[in-house]
Amino acid sequence: MQLLVEGGDAVLEDDDGEVADHRVARGAFDAAVGDNPREDDGVDLERAQEHLERRTVERREAGLVELVVHRAQLGDQLAAAVAQTEARRPEKGARLDDVVETERRAGGRGVHRELGREDRHVGGPARGRDARDRRDDPAESGHREPVTRVDAVRVQEIALEVEQEEGGGAPADRHDGIVCPMPRYDTAVLNGTVIMPYVGPLRCDIGVRDGRVAALADRIAPGDASDVVDARGRLVLPGAVDSHFHIGIYRDLAADATSETASALAGGVTTVLSYFRTGQHYLNKSGPYRTIFPEVVAATAGHAYTDFGYHLGIMTSEQLDEVDWLVGEQGVGSFKYYMFYKGLNLTSDSTRGSAYTMSDTYDLGHLYLLMRRVASASAGNGARGRVSLSLHCEQAELIRVFIEEVRRSGPGGLEGYHRARPPLTERLSIAEAMVLADATRCPVNLLHLSSVEALAAAAQGRREFPHLDIRLETTLHHLALTHATAHGILGKVNPPIRTEADREALWDAVVRGSIDTVVSDHACCAEADKGEDLWKALPGFGGTALLYPYLVSEGHAKRGLGLARVVELASANPARAFGLYPKKGTLAVGSDADLVVLDPDREQVVTPDALHSAQDFTPFAGMRVRGWPTHTILRGRVVFHDGRVWGRPAGEYVKRPAPHS
Ligand SMILES: [Zn+2]
Repeated sequence: MQLLVEGGDAVLEDDDGEVADHRVARGAFDAAVGDNPREDDGVDLERAQEHLERRTVERREAGLVELVVHRAQLGDQLAAAVAQTEARRPEKGARLDDVVETERRAGGRGVHRELGREDRHVGGPARGRDARDRRDDPAESGHREPVTRVDAVRVQEIALEVEQEEGGGAPADRHDGIVCPMPRYDTAVLNGTVIMPYVGPLRCDIGVRDGRVAALADRIAPGDASDVVDARGRLVLPGAVDSHFHIGIYRDLAADATSETASALAGGVTTVLSYFRTGQHYLNKSGPYRTIFPEVVAATAGHAYTDFGYHLGIMTSEQLDEVDWLVGEQGVGSFKYYMFYKGLNLTSDSTRGSAYTMSDTYDLGHLYLLMRRVASASAGNGARGRVSLSLHCEQAELIRVFIEEVRRSGPGGLEGYHRARPPLTERLSIAEAMVLADATRCPVNLLHLSSVEALAAAAQGRREFPHLDIRLETTLHHLALTHATAHGILGKVNPPIRTEADREALWDAVVRGSIDTVVSDHACCAEADKGEDLWKALPGFGGTALLYPYLVSEGHAKRGLGLARVVELASANPARAFGLYPKKGTLAVGSDADLVVLDPDREQVVTPDALHSAQDFTPFAGMRVRGWPTHTILRGRVVFHDGRVWGRPAGEYVKRPAPHS
């Protein structure tokens, strides 16, 4: 007996050449492998049984028959898909990486490769009862389809797929690209221009499954996804990682997490890395992180719309001993030291820093010990990801002197604040930090560089200590505002907003590539908290909703910053610096499906309402910004669209370094 395939029909011929003409399917297969034939299969069970009884179908042959039938069923579908892919030729513009495409096709053609292993035409007279013999049969018939024999395990796998296809069972994703009984993707973002960090713009579609990027393809059919986002004429960016944030600094932590991560979504931010420390503000208490940190995470979880993590200020000697536990057990891969708290409080109306920090000894000695701890944790962490120390670099003793001068003889307003904490204090503070980083080999992040002098000091540090891992950060407000444009006391922030020359120097450093990350340093603060007295006003304000819009509008459209650089500064670089990459920060297959669809032509003047924050003012008010997100997608779910947040806060705490699985 032999097996033929003609026009998708499986045919069994008896040895004497008589065509038995069976459409053998599940029943025969099940019977052959010992299961009970199912009455509802709609196949010729009687005939299959008959074959079994006549011993004309052996187990192996039954499997073979099943495979052929299965293949015939799938043939059209698969061929159509392959033809569709091949027919679609490159369009203008950048192309999806060939490697990615090759892998995708390889997946889709898995069945061909599998079949091809032992491809033989089966057509001539059989020489034996075992199909194994037939592959050597020289009398192959050209018009007949190739048929493959596979082992029983493979056949059973295919049978399972067919069962799922017929019975509506779980998706047969073990053979992605072969059988697709349900939509292949949960969500697909179609027709957009994807901005891939370190690569550039690509014209491709993105398929999302189970919260992760599952495919990048020239084209994904809309029917292949349960939900489709049409990104025609728009940019598709990896969700921004706003790595400088202050959830709960001035307000209830849970309430602040909700309102301010909603603001983050509006700016295309899908992950927030927030600073927390013990001392005044925040939870307004001190103590060991073993008790306080779980409280912080619990207050944020269930309240944040974005995924989130924490950098922790190590404020006391006791907390120094907790660094290893925080890195190893709690997923805290970054810490902070405030260079100016050793002699100044936050608002700068008191030099009693220890009352503010609620710590015993918070000085350069403490910093040295902290750097040793962080360097050791970094070395011990090996390849799992970077462990680092972030530094707020302003020098307290100099600030004390300059504050006295400005208070005595002016000027007032934000220019006075800039002169009271002049760039010289950043420069000296960075130089101090560099010496200690070198002595301890501690990886460091120099936060919110605000001035020409700060940039020069950081550049000198990199030149002088090329073996050190030094990352440079600046903020939206230092790039966007000057002390003349930041709305007076409303623009009070540390370090201060400076001059137009500083702003231009910062932009120059961003465009040249010496700045690694751009952040919001978001700290939600009510207008009433600013009050009338510059020296008592709370520093800081929100800005996270402007992260992508401002970088696209000012950086890309006006200053020629490449779009790849935009997503590097706001997403990929912070993800790498803080142990999140490539789970976050890119759109590789397997990365979390955190995506932003951005309309580069949508223009909006900044108002407090446009930022979706609880903050009732903004120093950015009146700025005309072109390029706003239309959709923000967190792990595959559209969470911001049509100018509003959708669903409940579903942000998760992300342990860092985060494994990429
Ligand atoms: Zn900050």
